[in-house]
Amino acid sequence: MRRSLERSNAQYRKASARLPMGVSSNFRYWGAKKTLYADHGRGARLWDLDGNEYIDYRLGYGPCILGYADPRVDEAARQGITVGGVFALSTELEYEVASRISRMVPAAEMVRFSNSGTEAVMAALRLARAYTRKDSHVIVEGGYHGVFDSVLWYTNIEDWDEADGEPQVEVDSKGVPKLLRKLTHFTPLNDANHLEDLLRRHGNEIGAFLIEPIMGNCCSITATREYLLAARELCEKYNVIMIVDEVKTGFRVARGGVQELMGFKSDLCTFAKAMGNGYPISAVAGRKDIMMQVANGVTHGGTYTCHSVALAAANKTLEILDETPALETIAKYGDELNAGRSRILNDHGIDHCFTGHGSMSGLFFSESAPTNYRDWLNSDYTFYDTMAPRLHDYGILCEPDSREPWFICEAHDQACMQQTLTAFEKAVGEALEELNSPKAAQAAG
Ligand code: PLP
Repeated sequence: MRRSLERSNAQYRKASARLPMGVSSNFRYWGAKKTLYADHGRGARLWDLDGNEYIDYRLGYGPCILGYADPRVDEAARQGITVGGVFALSTELEYEVASRISRMVPAAEMVRFSNSGTEAVMAALRLARAYTRKDSHVIVEGGYHGVFDSVLWYTNIEDWDEADGEPQVEVDSKGVPKLLRKLTHFTPLNDANHLEDLLRRHGNEIGAFLIEPIMGNCCSITATREYLLAARELCEKYNVIMIVDEVKTGFRVARGGVQELMGFKSDLCTFAKAMGNGYPISAVAGRKDIMMQVANGVTHGGTYTCHSVALAAANKTLEILDETPALETIAKYGDELNAGRSRILNDHGIDHCFTGHGSMSGLFFSESAPTNYRDWLNSDYTFYDTMAPRLHDYGILCEPDSREPWFICEAHDQACMQQTLTAFEKAVGEALEELNSPKAAQAAG
């Protein structure tokens, strides 16, 4: 490692005494010597405790759509403070923000707010179960939907032998009740036959189909429109609620999210991240008859829902995303960045492709993009793993795990672009050198 992380390392040692693993989310722990502590962020840049400056493509896993400390949103949030916080009463602004969401996302006939993506998806699943009176749900393999028990499951593709039938479903966290196992089914993305087969066999128990059409935790692997339309039809046929998890894609890949981009409508959809430019707010939205289940015995609420600061921030963020060309600027930067990275990789004769959308794209080292999680696991991601730490050293902050896309915000500018491509060129060269070294060849046997 070229840069000093002396202060981050010292902070890690100190914090570990009070905070398990020294952090407040397991995903922020990168190892004793590599865990970063942020000092502050401005625009598309972030500074760590040691004063290292980074152009950030993680952006807090996506929420920062306009840039850190965006003055327009922060001013609105300051006005939000003057309202007074939370009252255990609703305010007028909730209706205004809900109405804007409905205008931007036609599927969002009605809206309820929460604080995090997890809470929104949890609410959507509960609504779907209540509406259909069926307790099971289907998750798309490789999907991530938050940190609650119903979704902390995965299919173990790594140890899977196709000859043995379907991959084993395993629990993603200790402490999740094993009883929930039988409520959770999996299907690979872009395989409508598999989904149909599953619904034919278990349709009388399955109340919800949960999908993130651009898989923001799985290299931005993307559903085809044909698949989404087929899934849409199957959900209708088997009385299953189609929940589109737009926690990452919402108000990012288009004003109306992935549903606008791909031209289809969900029954329920969930939003968080980009909707508040980092202030904690989320929403579950969808068909009126399903959403109205909250007036028919479905519990939804929370002390902090629609805190006046977060709501004011969401109001301003959505206004900007809706009424200015911010999203076009973001997508254009992403496309240009990918074209630049492609030129460098092509110069080195490295097969690659980009998945997803310019605003949140995955980089995949093969000629064609994976169509589902099974494909991704069969790919060679060693190159990314070798390159990412070098990018960090050169001041480009991407997720070390290749499954996380590179997020773009409105504040990424041409200076960021030049700096990123220069660093990328160096990191690619060095990763190649390392992987082709006699030591690497020896390790590979
Ligand atoms: N759904 C998706 C698609 C996500 O990417 C995430 C978080 O990354 C969540 C749900 C959970 O959101 P949160 O971390 O705000 O609870």
